[in-house]
Amino acid sequence: MGDLRERFIMCCQNTFSCFKERETVPPSDIKKYDIEVIPNVHTEPPARVIPPIPAEKPKCVYLALYDYMARTDDDLSFHAGDKLEPINKSEDWWYVRGITGISANKQGYVPANYVVPVKSLDAEPWYFPETKRLDAEKMLLSDENQNGSFLIRNCESQTGELSLSVLDNSKVKHYKIKKLDNGGYFLSKSQNFSTLRELVEHYTNNDDGLYIHLREPCKKTIAPETNGLSYNTVDQWEIPRTSVKLLRKLGAGQFGEVFEGIWNDTTAVAVKTLKPGTMDAKDFLQEAQIMKRLRHPKLIQLYAVCTMEEPIYIITELMSNGSLLEYLKKDRGACLRLPTQVELGSQVAAGMAYLELQNYIHRDLAARNVLVGENNVCKVADFGLARVFQKDTGENVYEAKEGTKFPVKWTAPEAMHENKFTIKSDVWSFGILLYEIVTFGQMPYPTLTNYQVVQKLQTGYRMSCPLSCPKYLYEIMCDCWREVPADRPTFETLQWELEDFFEPDVSSYDDASRY
Ligand code: ATP
Repeated sequence: MGDLRERFIMCCQNTFSCFKERETVPPSDIKKYDIEVIPNVHTEPPARVIPPIPAEKPKCVYLALYDYMARTDDDLSFHAGDKLEPINKSEDWWYVRGITGISANKQGYVPANYVVPVKSLDAEPWYFPETKRLDAEKMLLSDENQNGSFLIRNCESQTGELSLSVLDNSKVKHYKIKKLDNGGYFLSKSQNFSTLRELVEHYTNNDDGLYIHLREPCKKTIAPETNGLSYNTVDQWEIPRTSVKLLRKLGAGQFGEVFEGIWNDTTAVAVKTLKPGTMDAKDFLQEAQIMKRLRHPKLIQLYAVCTMEEPIYIITELMSNGSLLEYLKKDRGACLRLPTQVELGSQVAAGMAYLELQNYIHRDLAARNVLVGENNVCKVADFGLARVFQKDTGENVYEAKEGTKFPVKWTAPEAMHENKFTIKSDVWSFGILLYEIVTFGQMPYPTLTNYQVVQKLQTGYRMSCPLSCPKYLYEIMCDCWREVPADRPTFETLQWELEDFFEPDVSSYDDASRY
C-alpha cells in the first residue's frame, strides 16, 4: 500500500516537473518542441462557455407513393403510405431510414421518384400533375375505380392551369379549376377556397354544381420506372452475366435474339443478345454511355450491359406487349380505334421530341422499334443502335440496293443517297410509322420493291392516303415526307398536333356552376 502511495507521489512530481520544463523552454526553441506559448494576460480563469444546445433539426419526412420491393440486399422495401427519412440524397437513389410501416427502423436505398415530401401537394393522393386528359380517362375508367373517383391534373391546353377529372356513371367529366389572383381556387364563382385541399374537401361533402360528390381519389396503381436497376448499377452498369437469367425468348431481329429475363432473381428485364461480331464492344459502350443518359417516359430505358464476353447483352426495361408492329397486326381492327392509333403516334412523337431536344438521332425509327406495354403505353426502342451496327457491319448495310438490310422504305432520300442522317430524316421515318399505325402494320409501299421506291421517290412520288385515314392525319404524314428536310415539322410540333387531334376545346369542359 505504502509502495503504491510512493509511486503515486513520484508520478505526480514527474508530471509537475514536466510542466516546469515546458515553461522554461527558451522562445528560440519553441519550434523544436512544437508548442505554442500563449502569454498569460488574464489573471482570472476564463468564464466557462456553455455551448448553446443545438435546436433539434426538424425531420425531413417523405411519403412513399407506391410499393417497392427490394431488388438488392442494399435496398429497402416499403409500401405506399410508409414514411421515410432521407439520410443521403444522391440523384436517383436515396439512402433512407424507414419511420413507419414495413420499413420502420430499417435503412437502405430507395428510388427517389417513389417518394415525395410528406407535407406537400405532391403527397395528396388525388394530385396527378403530369397526367394528360386521355390518360386520366383511361385511369379513372379502369376496374379499380368507382363512381366519384377523381383526380386533379395540370391542364394540357393552358399552362399553369389545373383540371378536375371525375368518374360519373362510366363517363369521365372534366372541370376547369380557376385560380384567383390572391392564390385561391374555385370551380364556380360562388365558392372560393384558399387551397386545393379545401376545394376537394368541400366537393367531397357537397356536389354543389358538380353532378356527383367526389369520393375516393383515383388509384395510383402503375408505379413509374425506377431510374436504373438499383443504386449500384447507376455508375457500375457493366453487370456480371451471372446476375441475369434468361427465361424465355421474346423474338429475334437482324442482330440477335431478345429474351425475357430476371436480374438478381428479383427484377424482370428484357435482354437483347447480340450475334457475335455484329458490333464492336468499345463502339457500343461509347454510344451506350450517351444512351443511358437519355431518360424519358416514352423511351425504353437502358439498364445495364454485359460486354466482357460474347454475346453482348443489352439489358432494358421489359414491355409486356412486344413490338408495336406485332401489336398492330395482332389486334388489327379488334380493339384499336382511330383515337388510340393517334394516341400511339403522339406517344412516339413525345419520345422523339425528347431526343430532338437532346440533339440525338434515332436512325431506325419504325413500328418494329417501338414497344408496347400495358394500357397501350408505347415507348421508342433501339435509338442510336443503328449507328453502332453501321460501323461494324459495313457500308453496304446502308446502301440503297435491293436485297440489302437497309430499311429503304423507312429512310429519307437524303439519308439514303448522301448518308445524311439528321433528326429530319427521323421525321421522314415517323411519317412512315404513322402509315404503319393507321394500316395496322401493313408494309409501306405495299406494291413496290425497295428499288422502285428509291426511283419513284426521286420523281416526287409519295404514298397515297390509306383507306379510313382522316385527311388531316394524312396531311401530317405528307408534311413528314417533304423533299427539303428543313420544311418537315419538328417532333415537338408533331407531338402537339397529334395530342390535340381529338382535344376538345375549352368549351368542352363540364360546367360546375349550374346552380
Ligand atoms: P431489327 O433488329 O431488324 O430492328 P427488331 O427491332 O424487331 O428488328 P429486336 O429489337 O431484336 O428486333 O427485337 C425482336 C423482338 O423482341 C421484337 O419484335 C419484340 O417483340 C421483342 N422485344 C424486343 N425488345 C423488347 C422489350 N424490351 N420488351 C419486350 N419485348 C421486346
